[in-house]
Amino acid sequence: MHPKAKPTLYADARLRELADASWLMSFARQFPAALSLARHAEDRHLSGAIDVHVHADPCLLAARNQDYTEVAVAAARAGLRAVVRKDHYQSTVGEAYAVQRHIDDLVERGDLAQRVEVFGGIPLGRLELAPIRLATRFAAFRMIWLNAIGGERLLDAQGRVRTEAEQIIALAAEHRRGLNVGAPSHSAAQYPDLGDYDGLAPLVETIKRRGALAVLDHPLSSLTIDEIARLTGDGVYAGLFCYPSLPSLAKAPVADPLRTLELVTRVGAENCIVATDVGMMLEYTQLEGLRQLIRLLQVLGCSAEQIDLMVKTNPARLLGL
Ligand SMILES: [Zn+2]
Repeated sequence: MHPKAKPTLYADARLRELADASWLMSFARQFPAALSLARHAEDRHLSGAIDVHVHADPCLLAARNQDYTEVAVAAARAGLRAVVRKDHYQSTVGEAYAVQRHIDDLVERGDLAQRVEVFGGIPLGRLELAPIRLATRFAAFRMIWLNAIGGERLLDAQGRVRTEAEQIIALAAEHRRGLNVGAPSHSAAQYPDLGDYDGLAPLVETIKRRGALAVLDHPLSSLTIDEIARLTGDGVYAGLFCYPSLPSLAKAPVADPLRTLELVTRVGAENCIVATDVGMMLEYTQLEGLRQLIRLLQVLGCSAEQIDLMVKTNPARLLGL
């Protein structure tokens, strides 16, 4: 396959099966909880959950169905522990700082029963160490987004990690900030010669060698389960996000729940992080996305311990909390 060609994740026969109107009965035979899961079954996992990949307005990439203040207030009401907003083109650290002040003010005035921690991060547009080093004095700064859309290339012509990128990875390890590793195909103009696996492997090797922690940005959308299994472990988590685990009219209207199950079974809940990465106008809100993802995992048979690992324990470790 040409390295730039998009992988076909579904064979034609599987696509027909996924679109067949009789899907429900065969799916429910295999996973009876699809018809019987109790209302609010997911609430126990929302309490203390951390969403490390939130999108909200003011987003510079696409219109969003909520702004970050709305996300934070709803998250606090549902008992979440923390949220982190990603923007591809701008730092969200200052905004997170201000939204946190607002949340704390609501709590102080008795308008909100409990607090949520509101965090932001910095996307690597230009490969500059200085702004990231300077931001480490703020607790609101928790994530660095590698391979943000339109960002500078992180690998040299030989496919090795550039010195500046390695310095930023080392800084993340030193200051216990999390890394989000986007697929090279998100920045196709920067990686005309590399497929997603070949573009990610050197970065992941450097992250592990430097002792940093990272989450792969929805790897199910462009990597095989074998490739994901090779990249994860030693502090590199597979991101289990709404897309492509749930259908999205904005991104991909067909989703195969069995690939999500295969991912968790193969790499283990200890190597996965659940986050939403949702909120376009034809998608769920952040909280509804998180509810649906947790319900999907419950229906697929994941244990309560496995789900808590993916929504609470691993995200807390990634963020250095
Ligand atoms: Zn995203």
